Amino acid sequence: MPIYEYRCNGCGHRFAYFSRTMSSSAEAAPVACPHCQSNDTKRLVSSFAVQGPSGPDAAEIAAEKAQAERLASITPREQIEKWRSAAKK
Ligand SMILES: [Zn+2]
Repeated sequence: MPIYEYRCNGCGHRFAYFSRTMSSSAEAAPVACPHCQSNDTKRLVSSFAVQGPSGPDAAEIAAEKAQAERLASITPREQIEKWRSAAKK
């Protein structure tokens, strides 16, 4: 069963569509957006190959987290407490 990924031009929602038929006419038929029910959708790819977390790259987030942890490990506890109390205000 072919799986297609669509993007809605109306609201930008991305969704996967499981085609129930192999016929090309059915593939060409518009697929309604599950988010806003718009028929203005565009087929992106024929697999989940490009699916992933939207927004910032996962590797980027991991690198940022590692950097924050490294910074915390070399920062005196008093300094961290000071930052924490400052952030609350
Ligand atoms: Zn939509």
